[in-house]
Amino acid sequence: MKNIGELISLVKTQYPEKEIIALHEPVFRGNEKKYLLDTIDSTFVSSVGKYVDRFEEMVQAQTNTKKAVAVVNGTASLQVALRLVGVKPGDEVITQALTFVATVNAIAYNDASPIFIDVDLDTMGLSPFAVEIFLNEYGEMREDGCYNKQTGKKISACLPMHTFGFPVHMDKLIEICEKWNIPIVEDAAESLGSEYKGQKTGSLGQIGAFSFNGNKIVTSGGGGAIVTNDLEIGKKAKHLTTTAKVPHSFEFMHDELGYNFRMPNLNAALACAQLEQLPSIMKNKRELALLYTEFFRTQGVKFRQELPNTKANYWLMCVELENMKDKEIFLKETNSKKILTRPIWQLMYRLPMYSHCQRDEQINAEFLEERIVNLPSGVR
Ligand SMILES: *Cc1c(COP(=O)(O)O)cnc(C)c1O
Repeated sequence: MKNIGELISLVKTQYPEKEIIALHEPVFRGNEKKYLLDTIDSTFVSSVGKYVDRFEEMVQAQTNTKKAVAVVNGTASLQVALRLVGVKPGDEVITQALTFVATVNAIAYNDASPIFIDVDLDTMGLSPFAVEIFLNEYGEMREDGCYNKQTGKKISACLPMHTFGFPVHMDKLIEICEKWNIPIVEDAAESLGSEYKGQKTGSLGQIGAFSFNGNKIVTSGGGGAIVTNDLEIGKKAKHLTTTAKVPHSFEFMHDELGYNFRMPNLNAALACAQLEQLPSIMKNKRELALLYTEFFRTQGVKFRQELPNTKANYWLMCVELENMKDKEIFLKETNSKKILTRPIWQLMYRLPMYSHCQRDEQINAEFLEERIVNLPSGVR
């Protein structure tokens, strides 16, 4: 990229009050203080309270799903979602290597192993075509599901991730996973508000998992949610994340190994106020995306835009630079001017705990790893 100086000026004019311009910071311009004070006044600051219920209703409405369950964070949501679709110790889960580490940790917490399949260049998310090629070579249908011929293990879930809020090609992925009888859990941690062919991400697979961490599009401080259209799974999700306690007014009876993964009412209160503002936050970000689109077009640099038939929430905006050298210069120059751009994640098989895992040729993932850089994307 030739004109980094011009980009730096553009970014500075967008965030005139900021000394240091971060990638994404939360903004609290609605009912946050009001709801938080209300929880304190009510003394219901912990694991039950009206904001937890309201949060679940709001997430249900937002994602157009039948059941949402508030969870302590996005990672825990993924961990439980995988268990709910039947992932057992020793199983394998198909996912992408181009992701944040939590996606893969959630698999490992279930004592299962990831199989890394390549991403598509256009979505930066799991490639259905690559999944199909892998399954045609290694898949073996048995009575109880799909097995991996190479390892003899069961492939009990597929975990696509909607990178930076850009939806994966879900139609084709659903078609292939149905053919091979593999349930889909969507890692929609980054894509609250995004749509694929008019449907919200997170609502397309058997289960969707969201994050409300401080760096996400809206936040509860820390938090997550599980969504599903399967009411049985929804009920089980609530049960497992609340210590698997059998409802009773005073007895303590727990009928299986559950988790204390509840979202405190205090956090839910913050999230409710934030969710009220999701439409205005998305509007604000889309306007910024438009500015970037114009700017980078004149620079001849590929700014990532939403694909036809999809709506992106533009959680983190990004450009694809020419090569690794361009990327390094870009990162150095912008960061030295206190504009905190950063590269996309290192591929998961470069991390020591996942280096031994099975993977296909990661041609697209490695191409993107060398070139994609995130830009300041917060609400102005
Ligand atoms: C943020 C994120 C998570 C995890 O969310 P936490 O709430 O931080 O646990 C999972 N997957 C992806 C892709 C994420 O970006």
